[in-house]
Amino acid sequence: MSFDIIVLGAGIIGVSTALHLQARGRSVCLVDKAEPGEGTSFGNAGLIERSSVIPYSFPRQVSAVAKYALNRSSAMRYDPLYLLKIAPWLFRYWRESSPERLAIAAKAMLPLVEASVTEHDALVQQAGCADLIRGRGWIEAYRSQPALDKAIAELADIESYGLRFEVLDRAKLRALEPGLGDAVQGGIHWLDPKTVTDPAGLVKAYAGLFEARQGKFAKGDATSLRQEGEGWTVETADGPATAKNVVVALGPQSSLIFRKLGYRIPLGIKRGHHMHYTMEEGADLGHSLVDAEAGYVLSPMTRGIRLTTGIEFASPAAPANTIQLDKAERFARQILPLGARLDKKPWLGLRPCLPDMRPVIGAAPRHSGLWFNFGHAHHGLTLGPVSGRLLAELMTGEKPFVDPAPYTAARFG
Ligand SMILES: Cc1cc2nc3c(=O)[nH]c(=O)nc-3n(C[C@H](O)[C@H](O)[C@H](O)COP(=O)(O)OP(=O)(O)OC[C@H]3O[C@@H](n4cnc5c(N)ncnc54)[C@H](O)[C@@H]3O)c2cc1C
Repeated sequence: MSFDIIVLGAGIIGVSTALHLQARGRSVCLVDKAEPGEGTSFGNAGLIERSSVIPYSFPRQVSAVAKYALNRSSAMRYDPLYLLKIAPWLFRYWRESSPERLAIAAKAMLPLVEASVTEHDALVQQAGCADLIRGRGWIEAYRSQPALDKAIAELADIESYGLRFEVLDRAKLRALEPGLGDAVQGGIHWLDPKTVTDPAGLVKAYAGLFEARQGKFAKGDATSLRQEGEGWTVETADGPATAKNVVVALGPQSSLIFRKLGYRIPLGIKRGHHMHYTMEEGADLGHSLVDAEAGYVLSPMTRGIRLTTGIEFASPAAPANTIQLDKAERFARQILPLGARLDKKPWLGLRPCLPDMRPVIGAAPRHSGLWFNFGHAHHGLTLGPVSGRLLAELMTGEKPFVDPAPYTAARFG
């Protein structure tokens, strides 16, 4: 099978990239070892996070570091041995999180974040899956008045971004979400983001659009990729696929390819879990809600209320566990009348993260026809379509809608 381009990985990033290349007249073979949307893109919190204009940085305040150091927080947990192993990566992340470096990262990410909702809107409309999208924004909820006051005061720092939000006191929050318990004092309602009620379903709908437009999806192991003459070949269940260009969009598994080809890109992993719950009779949750002090998200999903946990630093190969989930669930039950767990075991996802808080989007510096699109960390669902568009523009020689320099793989040598 011969194509213009092979895209390795059918998560939100790979599928979006394939669609944007296809829209520019390229024949594309999308390859994954599983069905589309079964990797990290399967189980996220479903936020198309237009309001996250400042990337998730390493905490710099002594109080925050001390809190996490005790390893009792529900927002972040770590396996001490794994933390030692990734110490150089963490140091780099810490260094990139200085106020000056963070400002650079935020500026670099802004054009992608700004276009995230409109780029999704276009694909959603074409794929006919508007039933999976809600346009109600999400709520950042606070348990203590001082924490809420601090969050309100910090809104001034992001005033220049022109984000739409409403500060909610207890009464306004109750009016929006009558099912919330007294443990919550108020919050901030972010109005620009949208939410997805089935993130895997969204990726599958986008992949369905790709196939309906004569795109080829094939099951195959990306590690079979080899460079042959002018192009690239990968083995698939339907036979070998060849193309002059190949895109690595394997999310957390992208290192399987780039390491073999000699690239030393510091792709780290932040784990996260999810579990679904029923709600007690008559109770409801209309908005996705972030419990800001406890560090988890509650999202109304097709399957039930999805609780997604914060960050876990532990071996990506270690099995899913309930340590962080149990803690978060205890907090969640204080604010919402959750019923029974719906999944037999928690889902585990691996956020693919670069220490400078920017993805890698663009050409591989030392291989002709090799392209990268991975490392979208906490916001891959948000950034899938917009990153796919940018890479497709670069690959087809169009003028990119944003300066691609901040995302180049060459920044790592
Ligand atoms: C708990 C949690 C909550 C999150 N919440 C949000 C959120 O609310 N909003 C947001 O924007 N982002 C969120 N994220 C982040 C987001 O989910 C990821 O950034 C995004 O899914 C990454 O997409 P991807 O396509 O790069 O990777 P993936 O979805 O992992 O896709 C990679 C694909 O590669 C395939 N693959 C791997 N190895 C091979 C191989 N050897 N051969 C062939 N195929 C292979 C996999 O099967 C997979 O389909 C969250 C993440 C987690 C873990």
